[in-house]
Amino acid sequence: MEESKLKFFCDRMLGKLAKKLRILGFDTLYYNEIEEDDILKLSKDRILFTRDKLLERKAKKQGIEVFYIKSDKWRSQLKAVNNRFSIEKYAKPFTRCSECNGELVHMDKEKVKGEVPEYVYKTVDDFKVCKNCGKVYWKGSHISWIVADVGKLVKVWKEV
Ligand SMILES: [Zn+2]
Repeated sequence: MEESKLKFFCDRMLGKLAKKLRILGFDTLYYNEIEEDDILKLSKDRILFTRDKLLERKAKKQGIEVFYIKSDKWRSQLKAVNNRFSIEKYAKPFTRCSECNGELVHMDKEKVKGEVPEYVYKTVDDFKVCKNCGKVYWKGSHISWIVADVGKLVKVWKEV
């Protein structure tokens, strides 16, 4: 699968999976409250992940690429997605906001003064900000926690 086609839509039951996919850098839409018609509309140029057999059938009828997710655990869900689409090799961690799917861009250190805890400002030099919601990310305890988590994901994948 071409990298540019790896854009996803996670249905209402797949919030955790959506977050992990964003952390790994994939353009992933997710809304916890959304009408089914809107899911189908917004999935037109994406791959729809769903745990709902009925929705799967409707999406297929409309020509939407859809992948049915069996598990209700995000680790197994991510494994299934990776088995099917080999996303591991396209992952770009920390390029996307896990909260809103916005792109992360570099932010000058002076600009985050007052927006992050004092100890972070003192010890960290590399900051990124979400272009969409303004959430600030940094390479430090916060990010290394996520790195650790992603490391675990990669490990989970390799056990497959
Ligand atoms: Zn954001």
